[in-house]
Amino acid sequence: MLKRSLTEDAQEVFRAIALIELGARMQVLESELTLSRDRMIRLYREVKGVSPPKGMLPFSADWYMTWLANIHASLFYNTYLFLKNEARCSHLDALTKGYRLYLEHCRHSETEPVLDLTRAWTLVRFFDANILQLTKCCRCTGKFVAHKHDLQHNVVCGACQPPSRAGKTKKAAAARQEAIEAAQVAEAA
Ligand SMILES: [Zn+2]
Repeated sequence: MLKRSLTEDAQEVFRAIALIELGARMQVLESELTLSRDRMIRLYREVKGVSPPKGMLPFSADWYMTWLANIHASLFYNTYLFLKNEARCSHLDALTKGYRLYLEHCRHSETEPVLDLTRAWTLVRFFDANILQLTKCCRCTGKFVAHKHDLQHNVVCGACQPPSRAGKTKKAAAARQEAIEAAQVAEAA
């Protein structure tokens, strides 16, 4: 066990609670925090009222490539990057704050969240592992999630080119556009 002050210990507990409230799985907690597994399980039960679910984490990067998931993942990852690089948040803060902002965007645009916290966390891991990259859309200039070696030029994002079958495209595209504008405003400031 790591030796640390009571304050540091309390901060870890609060971080764990924040992650659990947002829906983090045990694997996410174990990877991000230094609390003992027993304490995290106890915390999980206290916060959620049930034992943490068992089973594997989602691991396919292809999940983020389907049309709607790609729009949501791009929205979240752009927010995460802004918090980390511009607002100088730590990885963990950018993850929790970015995920809260993502949920707020969904609520605001009356869109069901597609990305759960574990998917958001896995997404960041795929970027860190150089499996995914952000590619600039040649129409809206927004950056969207793509495979590392996908084409970089003259590509169009999902929000600009929704499939014809998608019924709720307008809302999702509007949410995406709003997020892009918010990011541009933030960048210009
Ligand atoms: Zn676009």
